[in-house]
Amino acid sequence: MALAAITDDRIESMNPATGEILGSVPVMSADEVREVAQRARKEALEWSRLSVRARQAHLLRIRSAVVQRSEELARMVAAETGKPLPDAILEVFALGTFLTYCAKNAARALRPRRVSSKPLVLKRATITYEPYGVIGVISPWNFPVGIPAQVLPYALAAGNTIVYKPSELTPLTGIKLAEIFNSAGRHLIHVVTGDGRTGEGLVRSGVDKIEFTGSPGVAKRILAAAADTLTPVVLELGGKDPMIVCEGADLRKAARSAVGVSFHNSGQFCMAIERVFVTPGAYDRFVEEAVAATREIKQGIGDDANIGSMTRPQQIDVIERRLADATAKGARILMGGHRRTELGENFFEPTVIVDVDPQMELMKEETFGPVLPIMRVDSVDEAVRLANDSDYGLNASVFAPSTAQARTIAGRLVAGGVNLNDAVIGSGIPALPFGGEKSSGFGRLQGEEGFREFSRTKTLTENRFGKTALAAAMFTGKRVDPERLLGMMRLMYGKGARERLGGLRKKRGRK
Ligand code: NAD
Repeated sequence: MALAAITDDRIESMNPATGEILGSVPVMSADEVREVAQRARKEALEWSRLSVRARQAHLLRIRSAVVQRSEELARMVAAETGKPLPDAILEVFALGTFLTYCAKNAARALRPRRVSSKPLVLKRATITYEPYGVIGVISPWNFPVGIPAQVLPYALAAGNTIVYKPSELTPLTGIKLAEIFNSAGRHLIHVVTGDGRTGEGLVRSGVDKIEFTGSPGVAKRILAAAADTLTPVVLELGGKDPMIVCEGADLRKAARSAVGVSFHNSGQFCMAIERVFVTPGAYDRFVEEAVAATREIKQGIGDDANIGSMTRPQQIDVIERRLADATAKGARILMGGHRRTELGENFFEPTVIVDVDPQMELMKEETFGPVLPIMRVDSVDEAVRLANDSDYGLNASVFAPSTAQARTIAGRLVAGGVNLNDAVIGSGIPALPFGGEKSSGFGRLQGEEGFREFSRTKTLTENRFGKTALAAAMFTGKRVDPERLLGMMRLMYGKGARERLGGLRKKRGRK
């Protein structure tokens, strides 16, 4: 089955599980995108002038609209992605959670912050956060509500409006999502539909910042386009997430977590566990549990299925290539490994594969499919080394006998987030910043960082007493004695400075 048809000027959206055509949308040109960005800027002027508390109140109105139309939205997600309805509902649920967090916490995160003005004690120093204006948001297809849920509430709470480009595979969900947000009474989300051409148009449209979630390859093209106008960019990219499993850990929970996360959304998940490293004492039992858990998974089209179809049919070719390469080099498939043509053209079985090694493509490149590679390692040290030996650094998980042991291992991992004796789940906590290292991107969504990512940081320096314009002293024309300056530096920062300054303070009767 082909990808939903894309012509020069239209995209047809298709249900990848059934092949049903769901509708079509225009491929918008760069000129059209620019016009939309200008409209978004008009709305931004008014929205940005509201207090953060007034914006928070509006987010609650948006949340009511989302709750009211949650089933309709989830059904559209399921139709455009081929995932089971409960998984689609979870995305909408997450949106409700993020909206709630933002409606309660934006004002605190964005309030002006007083900081120490030392050594200029005559001054008062404050950090303030102001809206950028218009944020361009470019999303992938794997979680067409779950991904924008991490972005839109934070960017709106920070006082921006949005030009939103959903993936060409899930445009109808993007349109519905925006329609629901805007039904709360303000046109804050402006959708532009299309493929990479439209996306590039958005990067060049004059918006104030770009948030991109997608693949590292496209991220490089976005950075190149953004370089022309020095438009700032925040990037949430792919992953090759490792799980480390140690002897003495709860192996049943570890295996079920690996299977659950690796096969969630048919493995089309940036935080899918794509590499498991298991120490010798835990290996056999872990593999046994992983195979048993995989056997319980029900794949299909109905809402009672645990996993559905692949959303992007070409991904199956990638999976097959990776598996063929790995088995040719000695890996063994314990379960799965085939298409499920009796279910439809875009279904691939959950697959457990062992005897893998780090040189295989399967262990290096993002697979983005329901494949769980498990590798026996000699020691925790080797597991840590291999886990870090990756271009990616999005998320990781550690199963160890105690939290303290897991924390020690977590401290050695290069990743944006680590789950201890669990997997993936931290990304669902709206107060925790989310993002990656290395080819997994830069910048942070969610948490206080998430509000500030969509804010301009501006500092204010004011007089604490009277009208002491220190800068005026710079223009007195007096020659500054270099010896005095160097002496002052030695006094303040040289050896024994702490004691000297402490002594001075005491002399003046201050603590
Ligand atoms: P993709 O990079 O192919 O496309 C993402 C978006 O970019 C789409 O909307 C697409 O139309 C647009 N685009 C394509 N070319 C463009 C260009 N030149 N300029 C501007 N926009 C352009 O990614 P995908 O296939 O939709 O999604 C899968 C990827 O997303 C995987 O690598 C996955 O790991 C990653 N992902 C990351 C996260 C995260 O939070 N870190 C979450 C989900 C998915």
